[in-house]
Amino acid sequence: MIDDTPLAVSTRNIQAEEPFVFSCHKGVSCFTECCRMLELALSPYDLLRLRKSTGKSSTELLDQFVIMEQEPAEPFPRFYLTMIDDGRASCVFVSADGCTVYKDRPAACRTYPLGRAVQKQSDGSLKEQFVIVQEEHCRGFFEKTQQSPIEYTADQELHSYNRFNDLMAGIFLHDSIGKGFIPSKKQIELFTLALYDLDRFREMVVDGAINLSSAEEIMAVKLSDDEYLLEQSIAWVKQLLFSPFK
Ligand code: SF4
Ligand code: SF4
Repeated sequence: MIDDTPLAVSTRNIQAEEPFVFSCHKGVSCFTECCRMLELALSPYDLLRLRKSTGKSSTELLDQFVIMEQEPAEPFPRFYLTMIDDGRASCVFVSADGCTVYKDRPAACRTYPLGRAVQKQSDGSLKEQFVIVQEEHCRGFFEKTQQSPIEYTADQELHSYNRFNDLMAGIFLHDSIGKGFIPSKKQIELFTLALYDLDRFREMVVDGAINLSSAEEIMAVKLSDDEYLLEQSIAWVKQLLFSPFK
């Protein structure tokens, strides 16, 4: 039976260069405890990386490991990694030895206990802020290692994840969303396809079912690496959703 007693969580703001004490490794008594009973939201870049470690296509990942949910009041759906029914609601990728997709684990798994938020400034730039989230069961705070958010971000190889999250902020923080824009059902379908099912998006561009503006762009997508493709798909979704608002 799952113990669903809420765990105590505290949060505090932290400056980018302010040190905090934390270390997570196989020797901690709580090892992999945080890989259970969690809502693990996935970004498009998380899916791109999971394709590498699992060897599955984006379509297979979506079908087998991802749950899509949309609250009635929210403009966009959210995508969560499936937990398995083992009595502990464990992540599909956890094993006794740790994470089986460690080198491509999602941003949320890398970031903890650090939270990063971006705020859009009046000049359109993004300002980042950090918080420390401390959960009662986490023993990592009783280790000796000290680092700042900037150092931790580098150590966890979060730069690519943050770069793509910032590109996605161009959609989520777009002015028209603030003005109450709600995408149509068709736009949500295409949003999901282009951002979370990159293999199908590539096929549809190459087949001509999705139009990019030039033959050079189509050829670039055909030949591109996944990161370039995701940059193109984010730009395409922005155009799809917001071009009438420019
Ligand atoms: S992806 Fe890996 S690190 Fe993240 S919750 Fe699952 S097992 Fe844990
Ligand atoms: S609970 Fe904390 S220390 Fe334990 S495995 Fe998870 S992140 Fe690491």
